[in-house]
Amino acid sequence: MIILRIENLNVFYGDFQAIRNVSLEIPQGSVVSLIGANGAGKSTLLKAVSGLQKPAAGKITYSGADITGLSPDKIVAAGISMVPEGGRVFPRLTVLENLLVGSYTPKARKKRNTLLEKVYELFPRLAERSRQLANSLSGGERQMLAIGRALMSDPRLILFDEISLGLAPRVIKDIYQRIKEINRTGTTIVLVEQDVKRSLKASEKSYVLLEGKVVLAGRSKELSEEEVRKAYFGL
Ligand code: ATP
Repeated sequence: MIILRIENLNVFYGDFQAIRNVSLEIPQGSVVSLIGANGAGKSTLLKAVSGLQKPAAGKITYSGADITGLSPDKIVAAGISMVPEGGRVFPRLTVLENLLVGSYTPKARKKRNTLLEKVYELFPRLAERSRQLANSLSGGERQMLAIGRALMSDPRLILFDEISLGLAPRVIKDIYQRIKEINRTGTTIVLVEQDVKRSLKASEKSYVLLEGKVVLAGRSKELSEEEVRKAYFGL
């Protein structure tokens, strides 16, 4: 079953077209990578899905329902959550307050305590630091907090925007391990990455974007690093 379907999507910033006729399918329960260089349009695509950027044309279907152009809060309520680039959190709120902000939808609020327990189980570090201000966390911990906050809305689909940006290899490995665990519980994952090797390894299916277009797609196992790299650079 396809949980998210994007058909002929076009997104503009003024006159500039950042997404050009993009179509893709995310199978339920899978991990799918969107690979591409700086400016390829990966973040814009995630923003269009989460309602932060309105598409000019095209259709986004989630669990069979048309969600094109819905507001971000409606999209979160429907079960899609995004972890923004760079582990953005509220710096002047504590770890716990940041997490609670994540469960603002009525449905998630009812399950708040259970969700919080799950997040603390996945990231014990956040439990230890629950009363600390978010701006006192390390880069890796902030990223964990951003993921935890996304989980607090009880999503069925999570969009991760470049989670490894600026983090040490050991921390990246650890975070990828947690993403695998999140996926094991049945949550569908979309990973935006610049690192070709890591994206292919972590996902079942990959799409390569170049200048707003899908230039290569396939099962990650069947794609070679070399052909992905070539597509990535437009060679
Ligand atoms: P990065 O890894 O650098 O975030 P990306 O693949 O996510 O790259 P996007 O951020 O989606 O790329 O940007 C796609 C294109 O749209 C780029 O050329 C960028 O300059 C442009 N763009 C992004 N945001 C805006 C904006 N708010 N206004 C105008 N142009 C924008």
